[in-house]
Amino acid sequence: MFYIGIDLGGTNTAVGIVDDHGQILAQTTGKTPVGQPVNAYLACMSECIRCVLKTAGLQITEIRSIGIGIPGIVDTARGTVTQCTNLDWYDVPFQRFMEQVFPLPILMDNDANLAALAESCAGASIGCSSSVLITLGTGVGSGIILGGRPWSGAFGQAGELGHSTLVADGIPCRCGRNGCMEQYCSATALVRNARQICGAFPQTIMCQMAGGDLLDLTAKMVIDAAKEGDPYACRVFDRYTHYLALAIDSIINTLDPEIVLIGGGISHAGDFLLNAVRNKIPRHENGSPRPIARIELAKLRNGAGLIGAAMLGRQL
Ligand SMILES: [Zn+2]
Repeated sequence: MFYIGIDLGGTNTAVGIVDDHGQILAQTTGKTPVGQPVNAYLACMSECIRCVLKTAGLQITEIRSIGIGIPGIVDTARGTVTQCTNLDWYDVPFQRFMEQVFPLPILMDNDANLAALAESCAGASIGCSSSVLITLGTGVGSGIILGGRPWSGAFGQAGELGHSTLVADGIPCRCGRNGCMEQYCSATALVRNARQICGAFPQTIMCQMAGGDLLDLTAKMVIDAAKEGDPYACRVFDRYTHYLALAIDSIINTLDPEIVLIGGGISHAGDFLLNAVRNKIPRHENGSPRPIARIELAKLRNGAGLIGAAMLGRQL
């Protein structure tokens, strides 16, 4: 059986044909017609679908379903995009529009949930019925899988971990709250803290790495400096992983999943990151170790969104 997955991004729309094992057989991208009427989106998707069918040598009749990942809040029961600021969509019944064009079951979900679903079908959490994926990049994204399915919540807003309060009355966040996890655990937060340290201690190798201009300092430079043992970078990284471990510990205490995956740009730090985080999560209760969620790196990079979207159809 084959499935079509669509990852509707704020810049590009990725469309692919995926098999039962979550492997991509053909894929293409189109420019997302942001600011244009819904018909322009349908036309873009139709064209991309025609293209991938041709590449894979398949007919539309051989496709089980079309899944769509949306970068916003989705009411999966009604098939409505409740809120998607990137596309300026509010209460758009996009599933119905798609059904009028394509004679197939149409499914939608939030893109972060679908990245987590992709990992459970073809990535690092295969075989786990419960998992959480945290994506650490410019911001913090997260997706929850329970019973093998994405958990969107009663109101489509589950998995907004990045905007859960980690520090009472902490750093102001773009969402209007203070102390959100994103302000401590995103790559942006790591770099911001490193720049402050660089300002106070110009002898850190992070300053040399940035070539004298702190605006050129990246998360990778901070992590590389910490790996080399630079005490100032180590201090920044230790503080970063302290907060990340606190957030993951809350996930474990709330959901008790089989596995917690870390993805996004920061995850390129690999074992250096995993070991720092694992060591900061308490594994003992009343003196004896307790079984606890494994913490691992996400495996899928590009393509996770469309694989997850396609895999929604596997549950039909
Ligand atoms: Zn926030």
